[in-house]
Amino acid sequence: MKESTAQVLGRLNATIPVKELLPSSVPCNGCTACCRGDIITLHPEMGDDPSQYETREVEIPGRGTVHVIIKNDDGNCVYLGRNGCTIHDRAPAICQEFDCAGLVLKAGNSGVREMLQRGVMSKEVAKRGKELLRRGYRPRKEWRRKQ
Ligand code: SF4
Ligand code: SF4
Repeated sequence: MKESTAQVLGRLNATIPVKELLPSSVPCNGCTACCRGDIITLHPEMGDDPSQYETREVEIPGRGTVHVIIKNDDGNCVYLGRNGCTIHDRAPAICQEFDCAGLVLKAGNSGVREMLQRGVMSKEVAKRGKELLRRGYRPRKEWRRKQ
């Protein structure tokens, strides 16, 4: 039986370092691909307080109920403004630590293909991650470590 997107998300989430908040050093330089289409889950264990955000609850096998940030009709995060994130100082932990190049590196080609097929990662994020790696950007070691 095929996995649902929620199941894939739960499984792939184990590949993302979420135990402690280590802000990413990825040079976003105005890119907002993460804020357009990707699922943003809150992580209370990393300090996120769901009551402080506009969220909905989603059931993820293995993780239970999680809060995800609400999206506008166009698929953008409700907090994405004309000039980027409007809650930059208190953006959820995953926004602060996410590294597109790190995820591309960690997932490998087959993992990226699967995430794209399931809609867990957008084409733009995958493209940007690959582009940064081609340019020589090196994600911090937590993203490079295989699990
Ligand atoms: S896709 Fe990469 S460069 Fe673009 S906003 Fe996300 S982390 Fe930053
Ligand atoms: S909270 Fe901010 S950084 Fe996170 S997805 Fe929304 S707009 Fe982007």
